[in-house]
Amino acid sequence: IVRLRDVHKSYGQVEVLRGISMDVMKGEVICIIGPSGSGKSTLIRCINALNDIQAGSIQVEGQEVHDPRLDKLALRRKVGMVFQQYNLFPHKTALQNVMMAPVKVLKEKPAEVETRARALLKKVRLEGKENHYPGELSGGQQQRVAIARSLAMRPDVMLFDEVTAALDPETVKEVLVTIKDLAAEGMTCILVTHEMGFAREVADHIYFTDRGVIVEHGPPAEFFTQAKDARTRDFLDQVL
Ligand code: ATP
Ligand code: MG
Repeated sequence: IVRLRDVHKSYGQVEVLRGISMDVMKGEVICIIGPSGSGKSTLIRCINALNDIQAGSIQVEGQEVHDPRLDKLALRRKVGMVFQQYNLFPHKTALQNVMMAPVKVLKEKPAEVETRARALLKKVRLEGKENHYPGELSGGQQQRVAIARSLAMRPDVMLFDEVTAALDPETVKEVLVTIKDLAAEGMTCILVTHEMGFAREVADHIYFTDRGVIVEHGPPAEFFTQAKDARTRDFLDQVL
């Protein structure tokens, strides 16, 4: 469903992605791990065309993402993204935050969107919080509203960039449970994460990036126990 081939990306003179290739099948959960500055966020932002690329190819459902003729809004409806900073609208309730894009962007009927939004809030385990404003919710709850908001656009793929990095340890778990639920329902998920326990348990495939290249990748059972590259082993020694 997502296919990257020899992707190169530079900011000015500095090349931060130096030939990335990756295949993501429908329903798979992919975790991208690696040191700070290795290009993880850049990579994930290239997949929904928030960043441009200088060479190579990225396809989502067979469509070339960086084809100038591609409708970027249509792409971003198919590829949902959740960031570390959840950026909810502070003066809208949880329910209104989830309903906004389908009503305003997709021009769907508010009554139908509301039914779906309520179901999504229930799915992310926020039943009863529909009328709370972001300021009345914990970080983890806000992040789950952000996930529901993204799901309201009915994406085929979800991108998560360190969505638990800014959360208190107690609330990290509830967000990870939400993502695990999504994965269990067959949502294709690509996550940048430092949660190695989650990666080990939930991921189908793990990619380790360093300085703009994929150093090593494999299913978690292999990846965590038989890492071959010294850089991967050093990294795992630090985080495990
Ligand atoms: P972290 O784990 O800290 O989030 P990361 O792996 O997500 O790191 P990126 O944010 O993708 O790393 O950054 C990769 C490199 O690109 C870094 O050296 C960073 O300084 C540089 N970079 C990122 N965004 C920009 C930008 N908008 N302009 C110039 N350089 C950038
Ligand atoms: Mg990052």
